Amino acid sequence: MADGGARRLEGAPIADEIRTAVAEDVASFTTANGRPPVLAVVIVGRDAPSTVYLERILKGCAKVGIEAAFVELEGEATEAAVVDTIRTLNADPAVDGVIVQMPLPPTIRLSAVIDAIDPAKDIDGIHPLNAGLLRLGYDGFLPATAHAAVEILRRSGIEIAGRDAVVIGRSAVVGMPAAFLLVREDATVTVCHSRTRDLAGHVRRADIVVVAAGRPGLVTGAMLKPGAVVVDVGINLVDGKIVGDVDYDSAVSVASAITPVPGGVGPLTNALLLTHLIRAAERQAEARPRHAAPSSAANTTASSRGDR
Ligand code: NAD
Repeated sequence: MADGGARRLEGAPIADEIRTAVAEDVASFTTANGRPPVLAVVIVGRDAPSTVYLERILKGCAKVGIEAAFVELEGEATEAAVVDTIRTLNADPAVDGVIVQMPLPPTIRLSAVIDAIDPAKDIDGIHPLNAGLLRLGYDGFLPATAHAAVEILRRSGIEIAGRDAVVIGRSAVVGMPAAFLLVREDATVTVCHSRTRDLAGHVRRADIVVVAAGRPGLVTGAMLKPGAVVVDVGINLVDGKIVGDVDYDSAVSVASAITPVPGGVGPLTNALLLTHLIRAAERQAEARPRHAAPSSAANTTASSRGDR
């Protein structure tokens, strides 16, 4: 208990736990394959916020022994050049996962870039094949942020099955996958969005509220059912400070548990991306022909690490 009642669901200790498990798997992979797993990050033009994000990825990879390779194209690069770069990485057996730094310049169609990524290397689950696998309940790659929003509940021992959940936001990368994951965990889920008529009414009925709208202060304590669990996915820069979508100060005295921003979903997102990468690396290594019979000891499935 802290902050006048609500339990603060911190992402960092859970992220540390996950990274420790990933580091073991990375060490086994490196021994078995004679090289560390490799993540390629495609960057089309750099700006200050993306540099901060990229440094975080680099640090996260280094902590667990994953090699991160930045593939930088100029801001003026054509769509064809970006797609070609992704195809080259797809074909490279020494690259295990590919992510593309967003947002892309407006001249480049997001769909063309997403479609170009090999689903086997799509560790942030943005390719339609992985989105479809999630929708159908198969074990594909999940978008890391949506995964983190639900994993923080699971790992904090919050009961999900049978509870009423509201997800605010219906984006393909956060809101919708979070909603599907909650359904998979047996919650009863309502998805709210910018055209929802009575947002407060929906939120008031929810045991679990996941907010991913990109609107600071959208959810206040007065909207919450007493004892609700709140997961704040939002990241907004307000007066030079990072804040979420939830008015923390009013929510904290009504909720039973709440994720802080920063420090909640964010750290977990980065750690989970690493679990996706090692899983991609292991799967591709298994699929490749081998000279000698491999030991299966290293093939701890990601789901046994809570990666699902
Ligand atoms: P998005 O802009 O693609 O989608 C926002 C969604 O919110 C839309 O579906 C929209 O309908 C809904 N929405 C907007 N205003 C609303 C309102 N007033 N009432 C109800 N619904 C409303 O954004 P996104 O990419 O899904 O990201 C959502 C938030 O999550 C952003 O703040 C983003 O910065 C953050 N984010 C966090 C992480 C992380 O690791 N924590 C990662 C990615 C994105």
